[in-house]
This record gives sequence, structure tokens and C-alpha cells, in this order.
Amino acid sequence: MFSIDKIRADFPILNREIHGKKLVYLDNGATSQTPQVVIDAIVDYYSNYNANIHRGVHTLSQEATDKYEEARIKIQKHFNAKHSYEIILTSGTTHSINIVASGFVSLLKEGDEIIVSSLEHHSNIVPWQMLCEKTGAVLKVIPMDEDGSLRMDIYHELLNSKTKLVFCNHVSNALGTINPIEEIVHAAHKFGAYVLIDGAQAVPHIKPDVQDLDVDFYVASAHKMCGPTGVGLLYGKEELLNMLPPYQGGGEMIETVTFEKTTYAGLPHKFEAGTPNICGGIAFGVAVDYMNSIGFDAITKQENELLAYGTQELEKIEGLKIYGTTNKTSVISFNLEGIHPYDVGSILDKLGVAVRTGHHCAQPIMNFYCIPGTVRASFTFYNTKEEVDVLVNAVKKAKMMLS
Ligand code: PLP
Repeated sequence: MFSIDKIRADFPILNREIHGKKLVYLDNGATSQTPQVVIDAIVDYYSNYNANIHRGVHTLSQEATDKYEEARIKIQKHFNAKHSYEIILTSGTTHSINIVASGFVSLLKEGDEIIVSSLEHHSNIVPWQMLCEKTGAVLKVIPMDEDGSLRMDIYHELLNSKTKLVFCNHVSNALGTINPIEEIVHAAHKFGAYVLIDGAQAVPHIKPDVQDLDVDFYVASAHKMCGPTGVGLLYGKEELLNMLPPYQGGGEMIETVTFEKTTYAGLPHKFEAGTPNICGGIAFGVAVDYMNSIGFDAITKQENELLAYGTQELEKIEGLKIYGTTNKTSVISFNLEGIHPYDVGSILDKLGVAVRTGHHCAQPIMNFYCIPGTVRASFTFYNTKEEVDVLVNAVKKAKMMLS
């Protein structure tokens, strides 16, 4: 049974005041807030069993190793990966994408083609540009439409026998668009191309099944789904992770080291050089449990209600334009005519409302609309209709002050 009061009580930060006003946190797309169970797991780790993992014979090390590997299994189950060793724990989405992009340097040749969508976060553009620079591969872009959807007709035209890789986000961070990733994966596979899906903005709203999607790589960050910062995942199909060379050299990722020849450890350790974010990984597992205890059906229901209500109320404000109106998650990206988004965001902050302003690390989308940025309100399951009202009144006030 979904009880908003009970859920909100799980998040101590929601009691904060900002400039004398009750915090209304609507920047969940950038980072979600942390429930008490996750905070407790972090405190428990440092209070009771902080130790380095995998190598120690002593009790603390074994306890930490067990909890860390338990977290990997929780994450495996959540994403329905076939094997726990197909889950690489990384520092986040950006790190995960870079592991794959740098791995393909030795596997691509001049003239190969890579397709990327125009709705990407810079994290899912720049590593592929670097890959193209190093290999002579060519980057092709799926254009977008005015409503924030991808031109799938053009995607199908771009695919050909030279296409080796396709990269697309599951959900756009700037607009909230839910992309047709099943179709993207299926079509790419017909040409033998591999697909990486950036799930950073999807995982707070959707429980992806990587086997069902048949996706080759799926990446995400814990801090967008109630977990801590500095930890995330790279899912890859076993044979593809085995095909890629290691990303970094160091401890943990080796089998044997001599000055003549070093051999690498198997999965997942091959991609986990050095001491990982042990506490973060454990807390990520707790965050996954927490999200599942609420349930993704309940999460979606609450978020869709907030999205519908927020859209309806904001659209009543004259001169307010919402970007991205197609099938989307609970994100409202908007501008007030003639007013810079940064100015709107600053006034909202004074009124206790936290939103994101700017290009959202998605400059190609802003260029498409010929705007410097937007104000982005991103709702999650712990937000309320009353908070939407506070946002709407704050936007009206900002408009009055800045017009
Ligand atoms: N991809 C998308 C769609 C995002 O929204 C973000 C962060 O906002 C990232 C990638 C980068 O995530 P991180 O900074 O956690 O690596």
C-alpha cells in the first residue's frame, strides 16, 4: 500500500528548510535523495566492518566482501542479468560508458560507423567522439523531432553493414523522452551491431530487464535511484565483456603478474582495478531493495499523476513553453518567454524549490530548440501534488518579478 507520508518520512532531508521555506526538491533527475535505510547502511559499514575486500582472511574483510558480493547479486537480480559477473560495479554511468568506448578502440577500424542519438547526455557523446578520433570510425546521429522523440525512420536508414555500435539513452535527461529501445536494439542486431543503452535516467522509473531487451550493454548510476554517488553499474553480455580489453591496470584485475607477462582476472574483476567503492556498492544494493519495496508500479503511478497535474497547471501560465511533449517520464522542461532559465531557477531557489537550469549536459538538444537551456523540474515518487502547487506558484512569482 503506497503511503506518501510514510515514504516521505524515509527521507530525512525532506524536512530541511531553504531560505526559511520548506524544501521542495524537484531536481531528482540530477540526483535523487537518500532514504534512511541507505544512510544507515553507510554508517553501519564504516562503524562495523570497514575493510578492504577480496584479499583479506580476517573477519572484517570477509564480512565486507560478502556484503559487496551480495549487493552485486541484488543488482543482477534487479536488472535480470544472467550472471552476477556480468554486473561490473563502476563509479557511475560516465565511467561505465568510458570502459566500453575505450574497449572498442582496438576493435574498430577506419570507415566503421557508430550511431548515436541526438537526445544524449554529453557522457554518451564525448567518449564515442574520442573513439572515432582514435579509430577513424564515423559518428552518425539519429535526429530528433520537435516533440522530443527520435526520428526512427532515419535511424532505420542510417543502419547498414558498416554500423558496428549504436548508443542511445533509455530516457532523455533533458526532456524525459522514453526512447523505443526495444526497436533500436532489434534493428541494430539485424546488422550485427552492438547496442549500449544509457539507463541513467530510466532506472529511477523503470525496472529494465536486460535479457528481455537483449541489450548488449546497459549502464546506470546509483545516485539517481536512491543510492549514493560514486557508484554505478556496467551490465554487459558475458561474451562481449570477455571480448573487451581491461580498462585500467592495477590490483584486483590480475590473475598473475610477472615482469615478462601479466594475465588478467576473469569477470567481473577484470574491469574492477584497484580498491572499489565498497561502501557505495553495498549501499547501492540497499537502494535497489528500497526501490523494490515501494514497487515500480506504485512509483510510476505516483509520478504520472504528478506529471499530468504539473503539466496541466504550468501550461496555464501565459508565455510558458514545455519542451518534449511525447511519451516521457516525470520531467517537465520549460522556459518562460523572454526570461533566462538561470534567473527563473535562482528565484525558485529563494522560494525553497530546487530545480535544475541550463543545458543539462545535452547541448545538442538545446541547439535544436535554439535556446540556451531550460528549467527542468523532475518529479519522483516522494513528491506530492502540494509540492507541484508550490512550484507553479513560484514560477508565477518568478514571471512577475522578471517580466
Ligand atoms: N547519462 C544520462 C542520461 C544522465 O542523465 C547522466 C547524469 O545526469 C549521465 C549519463 C551521467 O551520469 P553520472 O554523472 O552519474 O556518471
